[in-house]
Amino acid sequence: MAFKTDAIQHGVYIDKTYSSVTTPIYSSSTYAFSKLGSPPPFDYSRSGNPTRHALAENLARLEGGTRASITATGMGAVTAAIFLFRPGDHIITGKDIYGGTYRLFSTIMTAMGIEFSYLNMGDADAIRAAIKPNTKGIWIETPGNPLLNITDISAVVEIAKQNEILTIADNTFMSPYFQRPLELGVDVVVESMTKYINGHSDVVAGAVVTKDGSLGERIAEIVNSMGLPSGPFDSFLVLRGVKTLPYRMEGHQANALAVAEFLESHPKVNRVNYPGLPSHPHHELAKRQMSGFGGMLSFEYKPGSLDPDAFLAKLKIFLLAESLGGVESLICQPWSMTHLSMPEPARVAAGIRPELFRLSIGLEDRDDLIRDLADALES
Ligand code: PLP
Repeated sequence: MAFKTDAIQHGVYIDKTYSSVTTPIYSSSTYAFSKLGSPPPFDYSRSGNPTRHALAENLARLEGGTRASITATGMGAVTAAIFLFRPGDHIITGKDIYGGTYRLFSTIMTAMGIEFSYLNMGDADAIRAAIKPNTKGIWIETPGNPLLNITDISAVVEIAKQNEILTIADNTFMSPYFQRPLELGVDVVVESMTKYINGHSDVVAGAVVTKDGSLGERIAEIVNSMGLPSGPFDSFLVLRGVKTLPYRMEGHQANALAVAEFLESHPKVNRVNYPGLPSHPHHELAKRQMSGFGGMLSFEYKPGSLDPDAFLAKLKIFLLAESLGGVESLICQPWSMTHLSMPEPARVAAGIRPELFRLSIGLEDRDDLIRDLADALES
């Protein structure tokens, strides 16, 4: 089936009693055995739940995988994937990854004996040179947060396969509608479904998806053992949100391109990071590996050209908030918000400056969004 059909139909669990058209919320924490040794299909809600299972089936299909584990947060998904590794393992990742992922890697996982190298993931030679005998994983986040750098997934997968290294991709910014890393050879995909997949800023949830069944089984064991799964109410909401993912992504993209073009022509703006702009350094690569450019962009104003507090105060539509991927437009300053958990030298090394604003472009009227930014930039 086509993506739009699968998003609506796949994995929907029809309740046999009432023939419900949508998946019911199964809130029961436990399920009865018919007799000793005959467990029901789901016996305890941490290990399995019908509503969560329906979402897992849906998402595995949309990502082009065979198995998905649904977690309570995107960080739960990141945690489940990183727990595939053992103390003494070395992992290569990008400098400009999500601040929360960086915090988990650089504090808890480092203390547990896993070693990380933070590289420019666009530099294949640097990746090759960083590989050591104990390198067991390459963690890709593309487009990167918040600079929208694009990593060449196929090139990284090729290096990884030559060296028997597992690849993991955080696909949060594009969602499976615009990018499917499993189809490019990546082993594990991680999603914060808090963002585009749910799309309505009313749930925190995550997913880990694999093509390989035994890898999926290992992830499911980690999620169950560590108590990471999402609850049935949240799974229900994400199942509702995912049905409109294709239409929302198209709308986010159309608005984002218009806003990016407006900002690029504004005299107070130094640089706009949006992979859909021909000026983006990885525009050609983005066209090759993604089927769209998404709804996220960031821009840097010319130092001294505006007072950031006055600019933010004047915005009427864009809300100053973390997160992204919802129907409403948001703005944040990664320096002091999403990436504050990165030490200042790491932020500077990643190219994140105080003048950088990140925009999550929503589905409001395009001209209203541009007018809002234009008025505020005049402040
Ligand atoms: N990955 C990326 C790229 C993110 O932007 C985020 C959150 O902003 C996460 C993972 C973590 O997701 P959550 O906030 O749902 O735990």
